[in-house]
Amino acid sequence: MTRLSPLLKQATPVTVEYGQGSYLYGTDGRRYLDFTAGIGVTSTGHCHPRVVEAAQKQVGSLIHGQYTTVMHKPMIELIEKLGDVLPPGLDSVFFANSGSEAVEAALRLARQATGRPNIIVFHGGFHGRTVAAASMTTSGTRFSAGFSPLMAGVHVAPFPTAYRWGWSEEEATAFALRELDYLFATISAPNETAAFIIEPVLGEGGYIPANTTFMQGLRERADKHGIILIADEIQTGFGRTGKYFGHQHFGITPDVVTLAKGIASGFPISGIAASEELMSKAWPGSQGGTYGGNAVACAAACATLDVIRDEDLVENARVRGHQLLDGVRALATDVIGDTRGLGLLVGSEFVNADGQPDGAKAAAAQKLAASKGLLLLMCGAYMNTVRMIPPLVVTEQQIHDGLGIWKEVLAEI
Ligand code: PMP
Repeated sequence: MTRLSPLLKQATPVTVEYGQGSYLYGTDGRRYLDFTAGIGVTSTGHCHPRVVEAAQKQVGSLIHGQYTTVMHKPMIELIEKLGDVLPPGLDSVFFANSGSEAVEAALRLARQATGRPNIIVFHGGFHGRTVAAASMTTSGTRFSAGFSPLMAGVHVAPFPTAYRWGWSEEEATAFALRELDYLFATISAPNETAAFIIEPVLGEGGYIPANTTFMQGLRERADKHGIILIADEIQTGFGRTGKYFGHQHFGITPDVVTLAKGIASGFPISGIAASEELMSKAWPGSQGGTYGGNAVACAAACATLDVIRDEDLVENARVRGHQLLDGVRALATDVIGDTRGLGLLVGSEFVNADGQPDGAKAAAAQKLAASKGLLLLMCGAYMNTVRMIPPLVVTEQQIHDGLGIWKEVLAEI
């Protein structure tokens, strides 16, 4: 019998029969409240009827039309719809299939547009698993171990992580910006630096939101030195944080935004958005791919964006995000060192009696929650943060139910 690679360890014993809204239904006959959303993908919930209908209809008329040969209607429609939600000025898009590919597209664009080699990344960032994206990833050695040498030209600056450093947010931010300037003076001169790439909320790195002073500090330095500011919004985009894009919490506009996950409720499509002026600096032939902007995925993305708008899901993410964060904070026991988040991205960091990261307890909590019908994810360099990332359609009652299970889990840990 052929088996799935043992490399892919499954965190829960659940095999899914079907999904609906905020629930997954297992082959074991049980219903699971899904606070993983396929790692932040099923924004409109599982199998939203409007997304299903759009995809089914598209399958019957055109499955694949390759965009370097022909344009197709769902892509034209998606470009228009993205124009309604993207920040002003980011009026040109390019489509790929996965988040990692979008990150690589942004990297290529930044290097080609500036003629500079270096990329500054921020500690705890996650940008994907292809070799270039893994080279820019610093949220755990597991993401790049064993296949060095990685891509050259990547330099790491601190991300303000007040809790871990034991400082205030202001102290952590001032330190991080000072270290960035020191990095300019010692390792990567500004005129050798093509881009900053940053997640507005560290995802795999532990659900740590950036802050306004830090993001504005990056924007100022990018403007001063002609560096391209890339916001990796693959996890934070399309309403997840309670605004359409995570960077909008911080009063800045990036030069490039990466897009994936929540854009199409589970269909594989990703992309980058930039100004037309910047996008025109990509060298012909260097971007693209056979499946990028697949017609069915584009149709599903159009339906997803319509549902997000019509059901006011960005506002729902904001309101339900507060409910979830407040609820998780209120339940925290002494095994939780820190609880934080933005919108429907909420993390609880497990620590031992000495305040040190406790991945074993976090893993036990995840397992216990699954056994009680609540699916959760883990993150952080030490894999000691349990993250809750429900679909944007999650209801007040479902958050209440999830918190009820979480309370039981913490009582048993
Ligand atoms: N960037 C960020 C911020 C992500 O969260 C992810 C996926 N977790 C990626 C890039 C990579 O996306 P993919 O797994 O689709 O390649």
